[in-house]
Amino acid sequence: MKIKVGINGFGTIGKRAAWAVSKQDDMELVGVTKTRPSFEALMAIDQGFPLYAACQDDVAGFEKAGMKTAGTLDDLLTKVDIIVDTTPGGVAEGYKSKYEAAGVKGIFQGGEDHSLTGISFNAMANYHESWGAKFSRVVSCNTTGLCRTLYPIDKEIGVSRVIASLIRRGADPGDRKGSMLNAIEPSLKLPTHHGPDVQTIMPWMNIQTMAVVTPTTLMHVHCIAVDLKRKTTEDEVVSIWQLTPRVRLVRGKDGIKSTGQVMELSRDMGNPRGDMMEIVVWKDGIKVVDDHLYYYQAIHQESDVVPEIVDCIRSMTKLEQDPLRSIAKTNKALGLSK
Ligand code: NAD
Repeated sequence: MKIKVGINGFGTIGKRAAWAVSKQDDMELVGVTKTRPSFEALMAIDQGFPLYAACQDDVAGFEKAGMKTAGTLDDLLTKVDIIVDTTPGGVAEGYKSKYEAAGVKGIFQGGEDHSLTGISFNAMANYHESWGAKFSRVVSCNTTGLCRTLYPIDKEIGVSRVIASLIRRGADPGDRKGSMLNAIEPSLKLPTHHGPDVQTIMPWMNIQTMAVVTPTTLMHVHCIAVDLKRKTTEDEVVSIWQLTPRVRLVRGKDGIKSTGQVMELSRDMGNPRGDMMEIVVWKDGIKVVDDHLYYYQAIHQESDVVPEIVDCIRSMTKLEQDPLRSIAKTNKALGLSK
C-alpha cells in the first residue's frame, strides 16, 4: 500500500517536493494546494497533480480563471496520511493545529523553528529520530549542507570545533524581492542561527557560524574550518566524502571555479529544472594541516532539501527502517548517482 502524500504550498520547495514524491513507488501524490491561479497552478495541472485551493476563499479566484480545483486543503487533508507543508516561513506554524485536528502527520521546513515540532530531520545524521513521529521539520538548505558534509567527518575522524562562514544568496532566481542589488550585508547578530540549527540534528557538535547576504541567486557558498580530534590527510577526507550520499566532489582544475559553473554542470547533466540536489565540495579546495580541515562547499538552496523530504516521509510513516536503504531508494528515483 502506498503512503498518500499532500503538499501544502506549491512554491520553490513545494513544486520540487511534489515532483520528488510523484517519482517514488511507495508513495502517492494525492494533491497540491495553491492560493492563486498562477502559472505554477497551471503547471501543477499540466503535470497531472490534482490542484486544491488553500482555503474556501481562494476557490472563486480559480473558478474565475477557468481552473478546476479538486477541492480545498480541508478536502485534501481527508485523503492523505501525511502533508508536506511548504508554505512560507512563519505561515506554516499556523497550519499545525489543522493537521492535528485532521489526524494527519506533517512535515515542516527550515523556515519554522525547531520548537514547532521538537524534532528536526537529516537523512544521514538522525533518520531514526523522526521514526513514526507525528510532526518533524526538514532543516534549511544551509543546515542540510552543513550536516551532509560534517556528519561523516565527525563519524570517521571526530570533530572538536567548526567555524563556518556562510556566503548566502540574496534571493531565489524566480523571486521579485530579495537582497540589495549591489551590496553585501553581514548578519550582525553573532553567532548566526545556523550553528544552533545544526545542533537540532547533532546536539554534540561545537559549531559557530557567521553569514553575509550577497547579490546572487544561484547558490550559497560555505567556507568551513574544522578542528579535528586527530590528524588526517586530504586523501582520507576525500575518500570519506566520495562514499557520502548526496555529496559531489568537483574540481576547479576542470573549470568548475564558481557557482556559475556548478549550475552549468547540473544543466549539462540534464538534472530536472537544472537542480543540484547534492552538496558540491571543491576537491582542490580541501586543505588539511595536521588536525585542521578547511573546505568550501556550494548549496543549491532550491533543491538540496528535496530528497531529505522524501526520506523524512519514509521515516515518519515507518516505510523503511534503514536510512541508507531509504536514501538509496530516493536517490535512484530522483536520478542521483549516490
Ligand atoms: P515560496 O514562497 O517559494 O513558496 C511558498 C508557497 O506557499 C507559494 O506557492 C505560496 O503561494 C504558498 N502560500 C503562501 N501562503 C500560503 C497559505 N496561507 N496557504 C497555502 N499556501 C500558501 O517559499 P519556499 O522558498 O518554497 O519556502 C517554503 C519553506 O521552505 C520555508 O519554510 C523556507 O524557509 C523553506 N526553504 C526554502 C528554501 C529556499 O531557498 N527557497 C530552501 C530550503 C528551505
